[in-house]
Amino acid sequence: MALDKNSLNSIPVHQINDSDLDAAGVSLSILRCDLIHPELSGNKWFKLKYNLLAAKEQGYDTLLSFGGAWSNHLHALAAAGKLFDFNTIGVIRGEATAPLNPCLSDAVGHGMKLHWVSREEYRNKKSADFINALKAKFGRFFLIPEGGSGLAGITGCQEIIQAEQVNEYDLICLACGTGTTLAGIVSAACPPVLGFQVLKGKGYLASEVESLLSDKQLLARNSWSINDTYHFGGYGKVKPELLTFIANFEERTNIPLEPVYSGKMLFGLYDLIKQDYFQKNTRVLVVHGGGLQGARGFI
Ligand SMILES: *Cc1c(COP(=O)(O)O)cnc(C)c1O
Repeated sequence: MALDKNSLNSIPVHQINDSDLDAAGVSLSILRCDLIHPELSGNKWFKLKYNLLAAKEQGYDTLLSFGGAWSNHLHALAAAGKLFDFNTIGVIRGEATAPLNPCLSDAVGHGMKLHWVSREEYRNKKSADFINALKAKFGRFFLIPEGGSGLAGITGCQEIIQAEQVNEYDLICLACGTGTTLAGIVSAACPPVLGFQVLKGKGYLASEVESLLSDKQLLARNSWSINDTYHFGGYGKVKPELLTFIANFEERTNIPLEPVYSGKMLFGLYDLIKQDYFQKNTRVLVVHGGGLQGARGFI
């Protein structure tokens, strides 16, 4: 597939109808970034795009990045490498496992080379020594930050909300890990934004997003806030009521969720809707960030 600015940018929107929404007078639509491409889905495509374009422009044939053994980012990077003709190297945090889990097995199937490093080494992954050792081992590569964060990642995420959607909705909701996607959305034209933090820690992500925006000299174009209530104990942690919510939502709507991001966000959003947190006639657009491959880790 040819790589250009407009690759994989058309995202279907699906409207949800159910009694909770009717009772609260809220309308809910879902921006299905999970449907962008069968193998390269979600916000991770937008976070990768300008990294890939820069790599091509600078004549790199190999991309390297970092992540855990269930990383949606590395899964997407491997798929992007296959689609757009790059070699890919994934630096994986932790002990090598055999057999590989389904996430890494997909990545290897797409041609990704895996390089395992201990948790301790992984913490130093930004150090010059660590990067130089990788260069000595793998040769010339284009380095993409963990999770696709960084300015290139933010710039890609500025394209998630389409111009016509700015007036069609009153609120954008999304799940936040690093907050890069939220930073991209709020620094482009958008309705007000409500992020749901999936990691534990009162208020920490809002201040990280503030510094992310100011570091990159970006201004929020509309109001935004982050709800830190619905983390279910922390990153990757689940509770039975979350899994039940996801199963019920999928059955009602035919829209698949996963428990790390989209499940927690929609659980939180429905909880707020049931508490009449939103004004009547609020039109909400939820960004489905994809990452469904990760749900295989919870079966
Ligand atoms: C990575 C990811 C997120 C979080 O994106 P950030 O830019 O790190 O906030 C949300 N949803 C899914 C499905 C993801 O894979």
